[in-house]
Amino acid sequence: MTQLQSLRGMVDLLPKALQRWQVVEAIARTHFQHSGFKEIRTPLMETTDLFCRGIGESTDVVGKEMYTFQDRGNRSCTLRPEGTASVVRAALQHGLISQGTQKLWYGGPMFRYERPQAGRQRQFHQIGVEWLGAASARTDVEVIALAWDLLTSLGVSDLELELNSLGSIEDRHLYRCALVAWLKQQSDQLDKDSRMRLLTNPLRILDSKDKTTRALLEEAPTLGDYLNSESRTRFSVVQRGLITLGIPFRLNPRLVRGLDYYCHTAFEITSKQLGAQATVCGGGRYDHLVSQLGGAETPAIGWALGMERLLLILEETSKANPDGRASRLITATKPDAYVVNCGERAAEPALVLARALRMQGLTVELDSSGATFSKQFKRADRCGARFALILGDKEVDRGQIQIKPLRVEGDEVIRSINAISAIVDILQNR
Ligand code: ATP
Ligand code: MG
Repeated sequence: MTQLQSLRGMVDLLPKALQRWQVVEAIARTHFQHSGFKEIRTPLMETTDLFCRGIGESTDVVGKEMYTFQDRGNRSCTLRPEGTASVVRAALQHGLISQGTQKLWYGGPMFRYERPQAGRQRQFHQIGVEWLGAASARTDVEVIALAWDLLTSLGVSDLELELNSLGSIEDRHLYRCALVAWLKQQSDQLDKDSRMRLLTNPLRILDSKDKTTRALLEEAPTLGDYLNSESRTRFSVVQRGLITLGIPFRLNPRLVRGLDYYCHTAFEITSKQLGAQATVCGGGRYDHLVSQLGGAETPAIGWALGMERLLLILEETSKANPDGRASRLITATKPDAYVVNCGERAAEPALVLARALRMQGLTVELDSSGATFSKQFKRADRCGARFALILGDKEVDRGQIQIKPLRVEGDEVIRSINAISAIVDILQNR
């Protein structure tokens, strides 16, 4: 029989990797909590219509990448390709927005039918924040700082924050007209995708990966020249805030989000360690999405961060600097103790001891193999435990346990097997 395989681009997360994920998730959760963001969980599947309206038909995500199918009731369903549309839908459906500003975070799998490669999968994971009702330019600074501080606190270096302002809808409209007029004159030099986008979503051409198109765009009119004075002032407040917080950034006039409800601040955080898929986090302001989905005009800003790419960066950082913070964070935690026990009579006291220590918060591996002492010691050593707790016939007779340090200097000591707090004290403090 042929071995069954997971679908292309859908990746299993095995225990060794997951231990790293959990560390990152725990740190992210703490950052969200400290900044007053509350978790929201929405279904993995939504009506297709939500994403068509919430992301836009002219985007790659909706146009080419969605997993869409009819369910048994003939409804068109889609596996979520991103989080924002679902979060806004849920906030509207449950009347959260009318209760005031909502600072929300989410995490979990997303689905896009893309060509799998390093840092690009068909099921991947994002964590992200959405701040609904955030109007001030200072909220932009706060939200960007949240992403930046989360990444830097993980010990990741060589991050680059790219920043742009898309201006107001009116600014964008003027710019789009100018850009389209200019591009039409050079349309024979554009790549095929960009020529299509000229009709559907011209701002996205700025994002083109095609070399000739990119070179051509060097000469194109830039969005910055079309911002009105209010948009310019707003953008300078964002930049000043980042400078005040000591967060370095680079202005990138080509950084765009193609849809009408995106406005003002757009940003991406990239890392050279990622190669071609360089962006680990992307976000921006979307003041018109809530109304687009049927709510009242509600200013909002958010970002999403790709977990797989973040983990890749952490691994690279850790390789480059084995003594650094990233390395410490992703190094697997080792058991505090490994219980070596030999003989029938030792088995039950060993079970009782392991349980008592676990109840005290220690990580304990119990050997239940009945193998020889020397085999059990080898395993204790291999698993990296700091101590071996040894229970043989002699110890059972005397109601004692031998505590042998495996990773630190020092002699073995003997304690009563019932003296749990004395044993804990040794395991924790030596
Ligand atoms: P890209 O240009 O790399 O396709 P994107 O603009 O489509 O990115 P967003 O929709 O802004 O990405 O998603 C935010 C983040 O989610 C990205 O910066 C990236 O880290 C991650 N991400 C997006 N698509 C994938 C994918 N297919 N596999 C893994 N991570 C992804
Ligand atoms: Mg993409």
